Amino acid sequence: MALPAVAVLVRRLHDANFSGWFAFLGLIPGLGALAPVTGGRQQYVSSHGRQAAADFQAAMNDTVDEVIRVAAAEGIDADIVKGGEFTVAYDRPQQQRLEAAVRAEQAWSHTDVRLLSAADATDRINVAGSTGAMWHPHCARIQPAKLVAGLTGVVLALGVEIYEDTRVSEITPHAALTAHGTVAAGVIVRATEGFTAGLAGLHRAWLPMNSSLIVTEPLGEHVWAGIGWAGRDTLGDMAHAYMYAQRTADDRIAIGGRGVPYRFGSRTDTDGRTPAATIEALRGILHRFFPGTADAPIAHAWSGVLGVPRDWAATVGLDRGTGLAWAGGYVGTGVATTNLAGRTLTDLILGRETALTALPWVNHRVRNWEPEPLRWLAVTALYQAYTRADRAELTRRTGTSPLATLADRVSGRGH
Ligand SMILES: Cc1cc2nc3c(=O)[nH]c(=O)nc-3n(C[C@H](O)[C@H](O)[C@H](O)COP(=O)(O)OP(=O)(O)OC[C@H]3O[C@@H](n4cnc5c(N)ncnc54)[C@H](O)[C@@H]3O)c2cc1C
Repeated sequence: MALPAVAVLVRRLHDANFSGWFAFLGLIPGLGALAPVTGGRQQYVSSHGRQAAADFQAAMNDTVDEVIRVAAAEGIDADIVKGGEFTVAYDRPQQQRLEAAVRAEQAWSHTDVRLLSAADATDRINVAGSTGAMWHPHCARIQPAKLVAGLTGVVLALGVEIYEDTRVSEITPHAALTAHGTVAAGVIVRATEGFTAGLAGLHRAWLPMNSSLIVTEPLGEHVWAGIGWAGRDTLGDMAHAYMYAQRTADDRIAIGGRGVPYRFGSRTDTDGRTPAATIEALRGILHRFFPGTADAPIAHAWSGVLGVPRDWAATVGLDRGTGLAWAGGYVGTGVATTNLAGRTLTDLILGRETALTALPWVNHRVRNWEPEPLRWLAVTALYQAYTRADRAELTRRTGTSPLATLADRVSGRGH
């Protein structure tokens, strides 16, 4: 068998035994290309200075345009529309957090965030009970399966060999161990995200966090007339247990968020099946946001895992001594960030010192999550705290629930 210079291993398809110059595990994207710096910019100010943190934001903005550019150049139709990101508030505490978030964002360069009044927000996307929204242009809606299929075709045409159904059990210096044999390579790139906990020695690295989505059947013109959403912005909210949504190219609403957040022992599901209670919770949000969808059939539901680092900061890097490179910990922001990681890894592996390799997330190391049962107890308790805080804020509170503030402090998560 000819030995490929670059090999991609994923967990499905056929077996193989090979070696190459570098082996790449993973890099497959999610729902919309967002441009936030995972875990926020502020964390890099004390370690690298404010300018470095601002440069990271500029690189993220460029990355959204880079994904769009490459898709166009390669003839990949992934339903991409750069409609910006719209984040809505619909109770007083959310509105307070929204206004504070806009002020904080506007203190940074490259953020281009605008505060929208309730009337302007409703005009753009008519979310019931909206009190206001923030919007910025650095976000694009995509259809992730189409992007992945298109990119697969492009890399195959470049001569890359993809070996599916080839699960790596362990990575050692310059080697990836599979049930079918060992892959020897100068550099092994670990890009296994929410599945990383399944690799030997990495059980407490990135926490596999579940996220679930439902999608409606295509909605009629009379429903869209009441909602608007002509700009195809990606949609989110200011709730603690937040939701996210897009208007698809064929005029459905795909809406995601809450569900079973975490499985004991960092287990990941293997069938993508979504619990009925999660589907009902998402259907409830859909109907509350858009009452005109009350009769819309739900066509499909699915779930997947995100990789969450202990400090919520994504990272990319290379240890030249062991030949281990890595990229991940994107939480819910990996669609654009995987592209930046891929370009950064290219520079690192080829030994090039560039603006990308100078970004503050490069070679960032993060400590492990706590052992079980602490991990399960903490995630479950935090998630319940966020859900209860959202309910209290929606029904009676006038400011952010202290329960949520405490949960943010414990989890290390900021809004
Ligand atoms: C429901 C949901 C909604 C999301 N929405 C958004 C969004 O709107 N915007 C956004 O930016 N991000 C979103 N994300 C996050 C985004 O999908 C991820 O950040 C992104 O997919 C990460 O890409 P990746 O290639 O690093 O990892 P993944 O896409 O998780 O791919 C990992 C790959 O590694 C392979 N693999 C894993 N373990 C092994 C092993 N041991 N051996 C061999 N191969 C292995 C897997 O088979 C897979 O192909 C969402 C995620 C989910 C689950």
